[in-house]
Amino acid sequence: MSGQDHAHVPPTTTDAGMPVASDEHSLTVGPDGPIVLHDHYLIEQMAAFNRERIPERQPHAKGSGAYGTFTTTHDVSRYTKAVLFQPQTQTEMVARFSTVAGERGSPDTWRDPRGFSLKFYTPEGNYDMVGNNTPVFFIRDPLKFQHFIRSQKRRADNNLRDHDMQWDFWTLSPESAHQVTWLMGDRGIPRTWRHMNGYSSHTYMWVNAAGEQFWVKYHFITDQGVEFFTQDEADQMAAVDTDYHTRDLWEHLRDGQYPSWTLKVQIMPFEDARGYRFNPFDLTKVWPHGDYPLIPVGTMTLNRNVTDNHAEMEQAAFEPNNLVPGIGLSPDKMLLARGFSYSDAHRARLGVNYKQIPVNRPHCEVNSYSKDGAMRMDSVRDPVYAPNSYGGPLADAERYPDQAVWATDGELMRRAYSLHAEDDDWGQAGTMVREVLDDAARDRLVDNIVGHLLNAVSEPVLLRAFDYWRHVDKNLGDKVEAGVRAKQGEMDPKAAKQANPARDSAQAKA
Ligand code: NDP
Repeated sequence: MSGQDHAHVPPTTTDAGMPVASDEHSLTVGPDGPIVLHDHYLIEQMAAFNRERIPERQPHAKGSGAYGTFTTTHDVSRYTKAVLFQPQTQTEMVARFSTVAGERGSPDTWRDPRGFSLKFYTPEGNYDMVGNNTPVFFIRDPLKFQHFIRSQKRRADNNLRDHDMQWDFWTLSPESAHQVTWLMGDRGIPRTWRHMNGYSSHTYMWVNAAGEQFWVKYHFITDQGVEFFTQDEADQMAAVDTDYHTRDLWEHLRDGQYPSWTLKVQIMPFEDARGYRFNPFDLTKVWPHGDYPLIPVGTMTLNRNVTDNHAEMEQAAFEPNNLVPGIGLSPDKMLLARGFSYSDAHRARLGVNYKQIPVNRPHCEVNSYSKDGAMRMDSVRDPVYAPNSYGGPLADAERYPDQAVWATDGELMRRAYSLHAEDDDWGQAGTMVREVLDDAARDRLVDNIVGHLLNAVSEPVLLRAFDYWRHVDKNLGDKVEAGVRAKQGEMDPKAAKQANPARDSAQAKA
């Protein structure tokens, strides 16, 4: 007998709605007898339980988020006709924040970039801004992405994460320097999700009502202020509360303390791209604010928790190719590849009809010709093909022309981006170290790098790591090497000497 008043609670049923006789006892032959196979409810419970877990995201497995509202407070209609960015428009949305490399149960406070994924339910379809809390990324060509993520996850042999493999990849991929500098700095461990910015990182295209095109980068600046955990604080938090960021967001929303972010954009006139000093589509670079200042657009406020984390977060499917009229892609190679990769991942993880799961469902009419497939929820009506003579939906090229386009011409080839005047792998990282960080932040950067390298990275990767940092900033690289050698010496002076035979013999020759 349960202690509940049966008059006020609904009866337990099977998944088919049939009332069941017991929440506690299986059907047996006598009180001590065997369980019978036709106890359909017991079998349904066991079978459903065995299938509760779905494949976790690869990467960005650990995360959570909330619903909210985006309000456009400023007039940017001269840059875009996107309905959600017209003055005073309010749009319902959902956000998901995440770490990148950790699995579903991993600590929220590991050093890692954070995913910052947004889905806006507009009257012209869903618009997804699948960003990160960093304005840049480790690589610029999607062919390297799979290798990059594998290097940050687990080894094949012992299933352990391995700093040696991380630094091996990074130091052989110098384009990672800007992002790794950012990651090893204070912002590599946000204090909470409420205290971090979000960036589109990629360049997108905006198109206004007159068909004029602009390049755009998004910056969601936290109204709570940027705050971070030091490595020690994060380690302690990981030990006592694996889900600290998840809990923090959920509890603040539960208590009516709604976090907000101010969206600002950088706008580059279409024609500027070709002659700009940096390749504006290279994901490892920012556009310095001095070149393209931040223009305010609106405010995003998160104000409603999910009620079923699996249904609304684990099954939330964000994809950079969910774009609405007035917003388009750019020639950023990473962005173009993500257009395929994300929807493919959702099909693999959730099934081909994942856009019919309520959290992914547009808040507007859907008139697509897709049909059938596993887990189809919505009925399809004839005609099921186009063109047709029977009143099926018609693409309206006049109202919705393909405007987010650009000219291109050339031979097929496998090459790096064309270099613009000031493009290199180290420059913007060096600017951050020398001009953005203060002395205390630079000291923490050195400590974080030394801690990450120490005892975890072996020669020759370690020597390459010292060189990598010297390329970012000579002084920084020297301090990193001195820091590692000093700590190795404290632990085992003989080992420290043995660890660097190449440099020792070079010094002896000199
Ligand atoms: P600014 O001086 O105008 O901007 C520097 C920006 O750096 C700040 O606005 C802030 O971005 C960000 N920042 C501050 N502290 C940190 C930190 N500890 N870790 C990471 N970022 C931090 O300079 P520029 O625009 O000319 O850029 C100079 C360098 O700043 C770049 O090379 C890049 O490394 C870094 N940066 C630039 C950004 C950009 O979009 N231009 C964005 C972020 C970093 P925010 O205002 O977004 O909080």
